Amino acid sequence: MRVKILGSAAGGGFPQWNCSCSNCRGLRGGTLRGSARSQTQIALSLDPGFKIWFLVSASPDLRAQILAAPELAPQSEGHSPIAGVFLTSADVDSVMGLLHLREFQSFFVFATAGVQRALKKESKIFGVLDRADPPVQWQVLAPRGRLGCHLSESPGEEPAFVCVTMPLGDAYPDYVSEELQRILSAEEAAIGFIFEQKGKSVFIAPSLSGRNSEWTKTACSSDLVLIDGTFWSDDELIQTGRSKKTAREIGHLPLSGPDGLLEQYPKTAKGRKVLIHINNTSPILDEDSAEHRAVLDAGFEIAYDGMQFDL
Ligand SMILES: [Zn+2]
Repeated sequence: MRVKILGSAAGGGFPQWNCSCSNCRGLRGGTLRGSARSQTQIALSLDPGFKIWFLVSASPDLRAQILAAPELAPQSEGHSPIAGVFLTSADVDSVMGLLHLREFQSFFVFATAGVQRALKKESKIFGVLDRADPPVQWQVLAPRGRLGCHLSESPGEEPAFVCVTMPLGDAYPDYVSEELQRILSAEEAAIGFIFEQKGKSVFIAPSLSGRNSEWTKTACSSDLVLIDGTFWSDDELIQTGRSKKTAREIGHLPLSGPDGLLEQYPKTAKGRKVLIHINNTSPILDEDSAEHRAVLDAGFEIAYDGMQFDL
């Protein structure tokens, strides 16, 4: 299995077009040691020759991210190697990229029933995907399930990999009406994915609310964990003047502090642990900062665009 990080920043990217926090100013001015990052996007391939790829989320930067990844270019017969998209939530940052995939291409979209209803009920814009022939196929994922996935249509073949889903306790995005939110299942709002193949597994949870602790067991047993590194501190957006809300209030467990992700992360975890979905305000983006050093000292890696793993 090959996992490639096409984008590693939170919504807005780094630097963010309208942000003048010290990080964004420092990166623009060349005074901060760090790298620009596009919005979080993960791709993975589970066939022996890495000819078929799946996307996890569909970021607003998806077109540029695909163009920057030669393995995602269409092959000579004219078919894109992108077979499907697994959606973690209905957040704008996780679904906007679907609109970049609208050029009469058929593929699968895997999402919970709640996310699919939120997307289709609150907007007609995703109907553009139906223009493909055959149209894009929407597959329903249980928020807590195990789905055996096949890469060929040969009958009787064992699944090539297993996709396990887990509710992460976050809410539906604000654009979903209260009326609809009342009838949608809360468990289906935001899910994490575990992809398993040949005894190896990757756990993907770029947005972790911390409202439940189910994730710790999976983090412990996975070979690779791509996990929410959005904010260093709970009041980061307030301190930098970007919002009046805390990290926890907008569904992100901060890295630092009592009960933060660094403290809650299981000490016996066996695999690589990689922070992803990093907000442009986070001090860990400054490679000379104490916070950057602290996450490395705690055994974490910080995702960057183009980072790749073979399991
Ligand atoms: Zn900024």
